[in-house]
Amino acid sequence: MHTLTNLRQERRLVTAIPGPKSIEALKRRSAATSQGLGMAIPVIIERASDAILLDIDGNQIIDMGSGIGVVNVGNSASRVVDRVIEQVQAFTHTCFTVAPYMSYIEVCEKLNALTPGTHAKKSLLVNSGAEAIENAVKIARYYTKRPAIVVFEHSYHGRTNLTMALTAKNMPYKEGFGPFAPEIYRVPMPYSFHWVGNQATITEDAIEMVTYKIDKEIGAHNVAAILIEPIQGEGGFIVPPKGFMPALAKYSADNGIVFIADEVQTGFARTGHMFAVEEENVVPDIMVTAKAIAGGLPLAGITGRAEIMDSVHVAGLGGTFGGNPIACAAALGALETMEAENLIARAQHIGTILGDSLRALQKKYPIIGEVRGRGAMQAIELVEVGTKNPHTAAMNAVVKYCQSNGVLVLTAGTYSNVIRFLPPLVITDELLKDALNILDEGFASL
Ligand SMILES: *Cc1c(COP(=O)(O)O)cnc(C)c1O
Repeated sequence: MHTLTNLRQERRLVTAIPGPKSIEALKRRSAATSQGLGMAIPVIIERASDAILLDIDGNQIIDMGSGIGVVNVGNSASRVVDRVIEQVQAFTHTCFTVAPYMSYIEVCEKLNALTPGTHAKKSLLVNSGAEAIENAVKIARYYTKRPAIVVFEHSYHGRTNLTMALTAKNMPYKEGFGPFAPEIYRVPMPYSFHWVGNQATITEDAIEMVTYKIDKEIGAHNVAAILIEPIQGEGGFIVPPKGFMPALAKYSADNGIVFIADEVQTGFARTGHMFAVEEENVVPDIMVTAKAIAGGLPLAGITGRAEIMDSVHVAGLGGTFGGNPIACAAALGALETMEAENLIARAQHIGTILGDSLRALQKKYPIIGEVRGRGAMQAIELVEVGTKNPHTAAMNAVVKYCQSNGVLVLTAGTYSNVIRFLPPLVITDELLKDALNILDEGFASL
């Protein structure tokens, strides 16, 4: 239906980055928008398709970040665009809690079917990851009649008041924005690269520390929920060692605690599974989704056991825009794309190329302390050679080199020393390899 010709999937530089038009336009950005907003790459985007961003100077940039893990199906994916056009012409908004419509119901049916576990499930749709996390916490507290929420070191769950309290890192997310919500308890996260021992002993140590803290310092009977990212995103793609997630899920079940998986960044085929918890067959009581759910439109979901989701009184949940019909139409287009284009297999394929290339770079450049992640969600942690001390300056230099050469990569990490890769799952092998070559040049230039 949509007639725009897609951008050729190739990197092309016609000016410096930023070019003259972007430089002019960014003056207006500075004048008009809050200084509190960051900016990963200093260009103004005119169009984008699949894994290519076109700026107003005519530069074509390879997108290795997907707008922070959002456009897994590619930018302006045709099934998303078609469904959005159809919906926007039909109606734009009624508010689902005023007058319901089918696309909201269909997205919930899909989420209930796609998320792990064969038990009865129900869903709720909202606007953002943070809002979804807030709702998951509300529901878990309501269901259990308990106050405490357990979260992990290095975690990221959003920027609203409650989710700032749930998020670990102070700068830039929390600094000066307190006071924060009470009854949030932070426990250790097994960050294997910085811990002593092998995977098995690290898992054992971590479970012992976490359950000790809950049992002795909080009281398991006071805990409404344990909330965890199956692979930590902003924290630096920290992958819990094998056995940790299943042990946490079991501990939660044994103690009447709602186990909440924050799959906001890991969800929707990103890691080579539909959801990252599937790697170890973990079945959360509630799963929170957002980012990639709707191919770029703002939407988020809370999906959980029917008895938990239905425990809340009628009208206790909701919001004006939550599950907006255009966003729901986009989600149906995105989910259809994931299936039709077999994006789970595609993420595994990307994972092989990414992992092999990054490990080859690690051999060449000992500044790369660790390569980690899963599927199309991988990262490198940069250290001072021969130590595990963070090397933030090197990260900044490599990222700058990539940008100047038309490759957009994102950073992460509690220690601000991680470069993360989240390419659209429709990226061609050629484009991916081109981006990785530029990355290689970036390290060579240090
Ligand atoms: C991005 C993110 C959030 C917050 O989502 P927003 O849509 O930005 O509010 C929560 N959890 C994780 C793991 C995220 O990556």
